[in-house]
Amino acid sequence: MPADGPSPPHRPSPPHRPSPPHRLSPRHLAAARAAKGFMPEEEGIALHRAALQACASVPGPLLEVGTYCAKSAVYLGAAAEVAGTVAVSVDHHRGSEENQAGWEHHDPDVLDPATGRMDTLPFARRTLEAAGLEGRVVLVVGDSVTVASVWERPLALLFVDGGHGADVAWADFRAWSPKVAPGGSMAIHDVFPDPADGGRPPYELYREALASGDWEEPPGVGCGSLRVLRRR
Ligand code: SAH
Ligand code: MG
Repeated sequence: MPADGPSPPHRPSPPHRPSPPHRLSPRHLAAARAAKGFMPEEEGIALHRAALQACASVPGPLLEVGTYCAKSAVYLGAAAEVAGTVAVSVDHHRGSEENQAGWEHHDPDVLDPATGRMDTLPFARRTLEAAGLEGRVVLVVGDSVTVASVWERPLALLFVDGGHGADVAWADFRAWSPKVAPGGSMAIHDVFPDPADGGRPPYELYREALASGDWEEPPGVGCGSLRVLRRR
């Protein structure tokens, strides 16, 4: 190439940000493994690492929509402990549609014998006790959109894993995603590009977030059906 010719396009590679190693203790891992729930360990570890990364970028708490029996809350709580923040986990503990009797994800063990209704709160409390994270994970019992209506603090990371019906999932997304701080992250669970693998709403709201231009997906952070977006 002539010395005074056009220089080749320069494409700096994005800064290499190695994912931090996980900081889960054997006690955390044992409690997460023992908990009832819907978070495979590999994805839980990815969520934990995403939370560590988010906390390294922006201040603020972690917030989960959908506690169930606090399996995923252990991964978030362990990250909150390292970062010196707290994880808040919101659930009415009455189960999603798909947890009710006759549905795919029903577990009769989590029915309150006095009323016959679902109550996962005692299981969640036991999981956090076993993990040693009672001081790090704050359980908020209530409808997620109602809690969002009184929540103002910007979040370092939001984890969306509540009801998966279209109305509930979109309501959670609309109510909570604006609360993520710029530079913070939103993790979404059960994102299945192929409808044969699972329900549509989590995938659709993940697509909507990307299409809005407000969110980008950093490579190498998500795992399985867990997708992690960063707010621009
Ligand atoms: N994160 C959990 C799984 C959550 S399952 C794990 O790792 O295992 C989804 C949860 O969302 C259920 O416990 C259900 O009670 C809760 N949920 C569904 N709709 C809700 C709503 N509108 N408000 C609060 N919680 C809700
Ligand atoms: Mg899930």
